[in-house]
Amino acid sequence: MDAADCIFCKIVKGEIPCAKLYEDELTLAFLDIAPVAPGHALVIPKAHHPDLFALPVELGAALLAAQQRVGRAVMAAMGATGLNVQQNNAQSAGQMVFHAHYHLIPRREGDGLAL
Ligand code: C5P
Repeated sequence: MDAADCIFCKIVKGEIPCAKLYEDELTLAFLDIAPVAPGHALVIPKAHHPDLFALPVELGAALLAAQQRVGRAVMAAMGATGLNVQQNNAQSAGQMVFHAHYHLIPRREGDGLAL
Protein backbone atom coordinates (compact mmCIF):
# COMPACT_ATOMS: atom_id res chain seq x y z
CA MET A 1 0.00 0.00 0.00
CA ASP A 2 1.38 3.43 -0.87
CA ALA A 3 0.73 6.74 0.83
CA ALA A 4 -2.19 7.60 -1.50
CA ASP A 5 -4.27 4.69 -0.16
CA CYS A 6 -3.08 4.93 3.45
CA ILE A 7 -5.76 5.69 6.04
CA PHE A 8 -3.27 7.29 8.45
CA CYS A 9 -1.90 9.53 5.67
CA LYS A 10 -5.51 10.63 5.09
CA ILE A 11 -5.81 11.42 8.82
CA VAL A 12 -2.55 13.42 8.67
CA LYS A 13 -3.94 15.40 5.70
CA GLY A 14 -7.25 16.00 7.47
CA GLU A 15 -9.22 14.02 4.88
CA ILE A 16 -10.45 11.59 7.57
CA PRO A 17 -11.31 12.88 11.05
CA CYS A 18 -9.59 11.80 14.24
CA ALA A 19 -9.71 12.69 17.92
CA LYS A 20 -6.39 14.52 17.88
CA LEU A 21 -4.37 14.61 21.09
CA TYR A 22 -1.07 16.12 19.94
CA GLU A 23 0.89 17.09 16.88
CA ASP A 24 4.20 18.63 16.01
CA GLU A 25 6.15 19.02 12.80
CA LEU A 26 6.94 15.30 12.52
CA THR A 27 4.39 13.40 14.59
CA LEU A 28 0.66 13.12 15.30
CA ALA A 29 -1.22 11.42 18.14
CA PHE A 30 -4.93 10.60 18.29
CA LEU A 31 -7.31 8.28 20.12
CA ASP A 32 -7.72 4.80 18.66
CA ILE A 33 -11.23 4.32 17.18
CA ALA A 34 -11.41 0.82 18.68
CA PRO A 35 -9.78 1.28 22.08
CA VAL A 36 -8.74 -1.75 24.11
CA ALA A 37 -8.71 0.49 27.20
CA PRO A 38 -9.93 4.03 27.97
CA GLY A 39 -7.38 6.52 26.62
CA HIS A 40 -5.84 4.09 24.08
CA ALA A 41 -3.87 6.41 21.81
CA LEU A 42 -1.79 6.06 18.66
CA VAL A 43 1.42 7.97 17.94
CA ILE A 44 2.39 8.06 14.26
CA PRO A 45 4.98 9.78 12.08
CA LYS A 46 3.35 12.26 9.69
CA ALA A 47 5.41 10.85 6.84
CA HIS A 48 4.42 7.51 5.36
CA HIS A 49 6.69 4.67 6.51
CA PRO A 50 5.02 1.23 6.42
CA ASP A 51 6.55 -0.26 9.55
CA LEU A 52 9.29 -0.07 12.16
CA PHE A 53 11.95 -1.28 9.75
CA ALA A 54 11.22 1.50 7.26
CA LEU A 55 11.41 4.30 9.86
CA PRO A 56 14.40 6.60 9.46
CA VAL A 57 16.48 6.41 12.63
CA GLU A 58 16.53 10.22 12.76
CA LEU A 59 12.75 10.17 13.31
CA GLY A 60 13.16 8.01 16.41
CA ALA A 61 13.80 10.87 18.84
CA ALA A 62 10.70 12.79 17.72
CA LEU A 63 8.54 9.67 18.01
CA LEU A 64 9.92 8.89 21.47
CA ALA A 65 9.34 12.45 22.65
CA ALA A 66 5.73 12.27 21.42
CA GLN A 67 5.22 8.90 23.15
CA GLN A 68 6.52 10.35 26.43
CA ARG A 69 4.37 13.48 26.19
CA VAL A 70 1.18 11.74 25.07
CA GLY A 71 1.78 8.75 27.37
CA ARG A 72 2.00 11.00 30.44
CA ALA A 73 -1.11 12.92 29.34
CA VAL A 74 -3.34 9.89 28.74
CA MET A 75 -2.19 8.29 32.00
CA ALA A 76 -3.04 11.45 33.94
CA ALA A 77 -6.38 11.89 32.14
CA MET A 78 -7.42 8.29 32.82
CA GLY A 79 -6.00 8.02 36.32
CA ALA A 80 -3.80 5.18 35.09
CA THR A 81 -0.82 3.84 37.00
CA GLY A 82 0.91 2.17 34.04
CA LEU A 83 1.27 2.30 30.29
CA ASN A 84 1.87 -0.31 27.60
CA VAL A 85 3.56 0.73 24.36
CA GLN A 86 2.77 -1.76 21.60
CA GLN A 87 4.05 -1.69 18.03
CA ASN A 88 3.00 -4.29 15.46
CA ASN A 89 4.88 -5.17 12.26
CA ALA A 90 3.39 -7.38 9.53
CA GLN A 91 0.03 -9.13 9.41
CA SER A 92 1.37 -12.11 11.36
CA ALA A 93 2.14 -9.74 14.25
CA GLY A 94 -1.30 -8.11 14.14
CA GLN A 95 -0.50 -5.09 11.98
CA MET A 96 -3.64 -3.87 10.19
CA VAL A 97 -2.60 -0.36 9.16
CA PHE A 98 0.64 -0.30 7.20
CA HIS A 99 1.80 3.12 8.35
CA ALA A 100 4.12 2.71 11.35
CA HIS A 101 2.48 3.55 14.68
CA TYR A 102 2.79 3.03 18.41
CA HIS A 103 -0.16 2.05 20.59
CA LEU A 104 -0.16 3.75 24.01
CA ILE A 105 -2.45 1.83 26.36
CA PRO A 106 -3.10 3.18 29.87
CA ARG A 107 -3.17 0.48 32.56
CA ARG A 108 -4.49 0.07 36.09
CA GLU A 109 -3.89 -2.68 38.63
CA GLY A 110 -6.37 -5.47 38.06
CA ASP A 111 -7.80 -4.03 34.83
CA GLY A 112 -7.89 -7.53 33.38
CA LEU A 113 -6.33 -6.60 30.04
CA ALA A 114 -4.25 -9.34 28.42
CA LEU A 115 -2.00 -7.75 25.81
O1 C5P B 1 -1.24 -2.16 15.02
P1 C5P B 1 -2.44 -2.24 14.11
O2 C5P B 1 -2.12 -1.95 12.67
O3 C5P B 1 -3.23 -3.51 14.29
O4 C5P B 1 -3.38 -1.09 14.64
C1 C5P B 1 -4.14 -0.24 13.84
C2 C5P B 1 -5.01 0.54 14.76
O5 C5P B 1 -5.52 1.66 14.07
C3 C5P B 1 -6.21 -0.25 15.30
O6 C5P B 1 -6.15 -0.28 16.73
C4 C5P B 1 -7.41 0.56 14.81
O7 C5P B 1 -8.46 0.60 15.73
C5 C5P B 1 -6.80 1.93 14.59
N1 C5P B 1 -7.48 2.80 13.65
C6 C5P B 1 -7.88 4.07 14.06
N2 C5P B 1 -8.50 4.92 13.17
C7 C5P B 1 -8.75 4.52 11.93
C8 C5P B 1 -8.35 3.24 11.49
C9 C5P B 1 -7.70 2.40 12.38
O8 C5P B 1 -7.68 4.44 15.20
N3 C5P B 1 -9.39 5.34 11.10
